[in-house]
Amino acid sequence: MFGPESAPNRWTGLPFVFEKVRILDEEHRVSRCEKFLNAFAREGCRMVEMSCEDHDRYAAGLQFITHTVGRILEGLMLESMPINTEGYKSLLGLVENTAGDSFDLYYGLFMFNKNSLEVLEKLDLAFEDLRKQLIVRLHHVVRNQLMEDGERLQQRDGSNSHALLRQVRNGSALLHSRSNDDALLSSSVSNNYSLSDENTKLKIAIVGFGNFGQFLAKTIVSQGHEVLAYSRSEYSDVARELGVSYFSDADDLCEQHPEVILLCTSILSTVKVLKSLPFQRLKRSTLFVDVLSVKEFPRNLFLQHLPPDFDVLCTHPMFGPESGKNGWKNLPLVYDKVRIGNEESRILRCCQFLDIFASEGCRMVEMSCAEHDWHAAGSQFVTHTTGRFLEKLGLETTPINTKGYETLLSLVENTMEDSFDLYYGLFLYNLNAMEQLERFDLAFESLKKQLFGRLHRIYRKHLFENEEQILALPERSTLPEKSEGSNVSSPLSKTVDTK
Ligand code: NAP
Repeated sequence: MFGPESAPNRWTGLPFVFEKVRILDEEHRVSRCEKFLNAFAREGCRMVEMSCEDHDRYAAGLQFITHTVGRILEGLMLESMPINTEGYKSLLGLVENTAGDSFDLYYGLFMFNKNSLEVLEKLDLAFEDLRKQLIVRLHHVVRNQLMEDGERLQQRDGSNSHALLRQVRNGSALLHSRSNDDALLSSSVSNNYSLSDENTKLKIAIVGFGNFGQFLAKTIVSQGHEVLAYSRSEYSDVARELGVSYFSDADDLCEQHPEVILLCTSILSTVKVLKSLPFQRLKRSTLFVDVLSVKEFPRNLFLQHLPPDFDVLCTHPMFGPESGKNGWKNLPLVYDKVRIGNEESRILRCCQFLDIFASEGCRMVEMSCAEHDWHAAGSQFVTHTTGRFLEKLGLETTPINTKGYETLLSLVENTMEDSFDLYYGLFLYNLNAMEQLERFDLAFESLKKQLFGRLHRIYRKHLFENEEQILALPERSTLPEKSEGSNVSSPLSKTVDTK
């Protein structure tokens, strides 16, 4: 279960499947067979004895799927990006592995394994199912938005007059609350930016303390920064264990005047969370950072909604709790200094924040948010799509896993660690994702066409050959005379009918 690509140097640990279909009892025949098998055992192969039938059942589920996925991805013409994730790298490896084999080999797996067609159908259904899942949700979101817009328009005319009346009646109350806000703002202004802790450590507030927020917090705390957190759910216990101060109220968090707000919420909830934050309680020069897996969307949102005095740094750590569990060395951190004030202290604070990643050995990649989204749709979205549609097949480990199949298994495991919201966010908030989904679909369709086209050609050829043989027969000499009223027609006319 290996080849020149997957095992160029050594065969240690790789499965060698065999069935002793017919080895007669004579001693020299038995020992000849053993000697042959030993040649592989000596190289360190894992010798797996199983029936040919079992082999084909497993192989359709693993080898045919691996080759099919490799060929679909080959059709996408994936390229190495400046910001490859670990998952994407494994896809590139898979393409390289399968593209090294001839199409004849792949076609052989399809034609001569009776289980392959069923597996192809399952792959087809799984992809359709995933696409439907995305489109149905998209439809739901757009419909809700359109209905909300409609309601808002309807309410606007009616509510304008009420609002005016209310303003006149509550004039004093309005004035009062505004002066409170002004006081808060001016206290923020007077609270000049100063670096905490020996000018090197930052006070960072993580907003959204789920899977990824906690993952980042561990490393940030270990570097000695002060970390605060706030989230929709209750995380006091987890926070305590991590050495993080937890706040279940956004006002309380902001009143701690963190130097950096690090937004780690889901892409889908970003607008809601952002609008709910009491900016007026923060220091005027706060640095606002996000880690969303899409970048143009938060960039535009921040520029639109954040107070103009806030600095804005958009980042995307291209790794997660699974791929970064053994350290962040060489893993890419993409960043765009969207708006950093000229003052030395602001520039320094931004550098200090980026140094959290640089000092862990991350590969620091500065690029615009638009450029990031273009690269990420072609790599991250494709990786997640592959993992998600394979997950629907319920792939399981087998006694004869190939290296390629193991790549697929770990891809599925990796993508399933992430929430569907994350995947859906990649789809919805990256302009280029829909195009990638269509390309994936086209690549799969074109592969199926290639398989079925060849099947059709062979069948046709077979039919024509039969026809030629029939034509070559001496005319009618051996055919029974057609008696009146009989239903028997000539084989030729049958062939013509069939055609
Ligand atoms: P996620 O499902 O994308 O986000 C979960 C976070 O969003 C939780 O903190 C959750 O709060 C919050 N949230 C979800 N819906 C909310 C709502 N309606 N209102 C308020 N908060 C809401 O999973 P994640 O893996 O933790 O990712 C967080 C962010 O990091 C995402 O933007 C993602 O794109 C980015 N990122 C993730 C990875 C990764 O490998 N996972 C890598 C790079 C970047 P509660 O937990 O309090 O409910």
